Amino acid sequence: MNSELSEGIYVIPDQLRGVVYGNEIHIFPRKALNEYRCKDCVHREEGYATINAYRKSWICKQRPKEILNPMFSNQIIFYAAPYYGKPCGKFKLKGGEK
Ligand code: SF4
Repeated sequence: MNSELSEGIYVIPDQLRGVVYGNEIHIFPRKALNEYRCKDCVHREEGYATINAYRKSWICKQRPKEILNPMFSNQIIFYAAPYYGKPCGKFKLKGGEK
């Protein structure tokens, strides 16, 4: 950690951004994980979110629901992945490197 900065303006690369927290400046990639949403994730697909669902909706393939009733054990359903859903730790960028 460098504590020898003097007053002035410091230029950082375009792909980074700086955020001031108290007496610290944090440097991040310009688009950090918390700026992405479920809509940007490869695991968001069309599928079924409820038992006997009439139509498909946007679901997360990483979050299957457990079906407790054995009558419906042949169905595969998932938790919903809303367009602006907050990304989780399994986030994988569509066509990206994360
Ligand atoms: S919940 Fe996580 S894994 Fe599922 S679509 Fe959203 S970010 Fe991707």
